[in-house]
Amino acid sequence: MADRPRRPPWMKVRAPSRDSQYFDVGKLIHGAGLHTVCEEARCPNISECWGRGTATFQILGDTCTRACRYCYVHSGRPEHPPDPLEPLRLANAAAQMKLEHVVVTSVDRDDLPDRGAGHFAATIRALNRRCPEAGVEVLTPDFLGVEDEALRTVLGARPEVFNHNIETVHRLHARMRGAKASYDKALWLLRRAKELADYPVLTKSGLIVGLGETNDEVVETMRDLRANAVDVVTIGQYLQPSDRHAKIDRWVHPDEFRWFREQGEALGFGSVFSGPLVRSSYRADEQRHAAETGRGAVAY
Ligand code: SF4
Repeated sequence: MADRPRRPPWMKVRAPSRDSQYFDVGKLIHGAGLHTVCEEARCPNISECWGRGTATFQILGDTCTRACRYCYVHSGRPEHPPDPLEPLRLANAAAQMKLEHVVVTSVDRDDLPDRGAGHFAATIRALNRRCPEAGVEVLTPDFLGVEDEALRTVLGARPEVFNHNIETVHRLHARMRGAKASYDKALWLLRRAKELADYPVLTKSGLIVGLGETNDEVVETMRDLRANAVDVVTIGQYLQPSDRHAKIDRWVHPDEFRWFREQGEALGFGSVFSGPLVRSSYRADEQRHAAETGRGAVAY
């Protein structure tokens, strides 16, 4: 295996503890035949998040039709159509976990005519029926080629939070995400979600840093997000998941994450979660709460 840079002390994570809910969450999710991005993307926070009884569900299978250079999720040609019973199983699992805020993401499904939008809507509706008190956050793909129609479908089911990650700065976007994705399209999708929703949806986006961007470019991206009415932003350190993936360019120091937070605050985000281990769905319930109550920015 090629040498990878040693993690600095602030990137260390704890192993799962026996007395946390970690093992119960795993049993429930695997028993229900569900996927989580926590496992599929090898998220470093899995001990903490599962340990506190939360997880981020990944719908539409485990095979993504894109191959972003930073992402560990398996890419290829999906073999199965969406499972019509997945929304129900997911809602039942969320109810058993007593989640107050449910985050649902998916692989990209460019092979489906609606890019999976109908399955997102069915999942939100199943959650609203089974867990009426819970808030629902969707972290969607870009719905290549059917954007407007897909947004209408998803927002018709009224998720509380619409999230689409811009992932990286303008200069690196095509290199990291491939030719099908577009920085400008991501901004458009976020703005359009706000325009189409007939209720006060929160919009949210996230960036990973350490891919070769400068700090000024990060602020420029935050400025672009705010210009498109995005309410919540997350910023976290990139971790190279395998030798096949993009190399880490730098370890961003916690002080720089604090600086990003201050810049985001000044730009007027309702919530800025900025820290080495922050991920889009990291403590998503708190991110939403901070934005709704005006509690403001947070750094970890
Ligand atoms: S940060 Fe998100 S993806 Fe990572 S373990 Fe937590 S809930 Fe899962």
